[in-house]
Amino acid sequence: MSDYSFFGDVSSYIDRAASYTDHPSGLIDQIKQCNSIYKFNFPIKLSGGGYRVITGWRVQHSHHRLPVKGGIRYSSHVNEDEVKALAALMTFKCALVDVPFGGAKGGVSINPREYKEPELESITRRYTAELIKKNFISPALDVPAPDYGTGEREMAWIADIYSTFYPEQINAYGCVTGKPISLHGIRGRTEATGRGVYFGIREAVSIEEDMKAIGLSPGLEGKKVIVQGLGNVGYHSAKFLQESGAIIIGVAEYNGGIYNEDGLDIENLMKLKTSSGSIVNYSKGKGILNPNDLLEYECDILVPAALENQITKDNANRIKAKIIAEAANGPITREAEEILLARNVFILPDLYLNAGGVTVSYFEWLKNLSRVSFGRMDKRYEEVNNRRILQAMEELTGGQLSDAHHKLLETGPGEVDIVNSGLEEIMVSAYHETRELMKTKDIPDFRTASFVSSVEKIAISYLSRGIFP
Ligand code: NAD
Repeated sequence: MSDYSFFGDVSSYIDRAASYTDHPSGLIDQIKQCNSIYKFNFPIKLSGGGYRVITGWRVQHSHHRLPVKGGIRYSSHVNEDEVKALAALMTFKCALVDVPFGGAKGGVSINPREYKEPELESITRRYTAELIKKNFISPALDVPAPDYGTGEREMAWIADIYSTFYPEQINAYGCVTGKPISLHGIRGRTEATGRGVYFGIREAVSIEEDMKAIGLSPGLEGKKVIVQGLGNVGYHSAKFLQESGAIIIGVAEYNGGIYNEDGLDIENLMKLKTSSGSIVNYSKGKGILNPNDLLEYECDILVPAALENQITKDNANRIKAKIIAEAANGPITREAEEILLARNVFILPDLYLNAGGVTVSYFEWLKNLSRVSFGRMDKRYEEVNNRRILQAMEELTGGQLSDAHHKLLETGPGEVDIVNSGLEEIMVSAYHETRELMKTKDIPDFRTASFVSSVEKIAISYLSRGIFP
């Protein structure tokens, strides 16, 4: 599909959403465009001798709110169209869940598996230096995060070089999120996207009316799930779904898949991947040579959690899942979506479903600006209050709670409890707000409703400052 444009797909979703609003076309054009695109090349020295020129991008899609926010992707598939599309999705994602950022994305065109750690460190530090030169990174303007092919290790290198350049900036560590806890990261960020995916799926399957419409019973218990991509997002999504009673029957990785009708143990599978770099030798399941075949297996919920452009017009007709939960960005092309919707497949769109990552990144940024972790000031205060209430109740009733109950009811919330509860609140509210909008405006699908909601919020932000009066 050489003429495929991911950014083109995102733009057409915005056009479709705009038809449910009455904003002028000039405003919609502004909402669609990428405000700034920065492409650059830089050399690195290879460990074995010689040099290589590396190409990188940072795209800031929308400045309607600052800072802009979005992950950095390391992949040999990275190109400008992809980075623009991912940056645009970030804008609509943040607006949908009321996280006060514009959207951005970064990309480096490398296959990280082909580089040694010191080389990846040079690439990351040099990429950051290039962003610094052009003011494309700062806690106030543009805050990157992890994405496909990057994680807290890369975020630590970015934070380190930024704070070295700007030691006088008191908020320097807010220049990037997804950092390790030891470098001012936040508890719960690593698993946040997957946890958000789980909350989103849980909400969707809890509504009897919606499940009945696609021939499923409500609830996660016993639902058969296939996951594509056992990376950060795929692993955590699978883990939380499994812990809630879903059965993970298939996992696809780039070099092969594993299938077991009775369920796979995700923790064991992940241990194997971590120790050997691959899942293909897992003994408690059938090996699948072509991992893409697994997308077409019978299941209730298919969770693509790898890359975009996985379900296209070529395989959409063969997908048997009743629900496709887009943990990855853009796994379904627009053409494929038309086929799937016509076949009554329920699609939970990326801009809603994987918003948990940026939500907890927002919490991390807040923590960095305030320089205090959530719960630090009031955990003990709440514990003392809870103890007083329990003691008063015991005195009044003459009863006596067990030590275990006391501990359970008294303990004040720590950082991870507050982060997870904030994430749950945001994912649950956004789901019902969007579903409500879908019903009120008679919008046929959840993706369009999500875009309508975001477009409205971004339009208000432009209009309220006097642009497009
Ligand atoms: P990751 O690098 O941690 O994991 C991706 C996994 O997919 C890897 O294990 C890789 O081997 C596997 N993979 C690659 N190609 C595959 C193929 N063809 N078939 C099956 N598996 C394949 O990346 P991630 O951070 O988990 O990101 C995955 C997706 O989620 C991306 O679309 C990303 O944009 C999106 N996302 C990530 C975050 C985040 O917080 N990391 C937030 C929002 C959205």
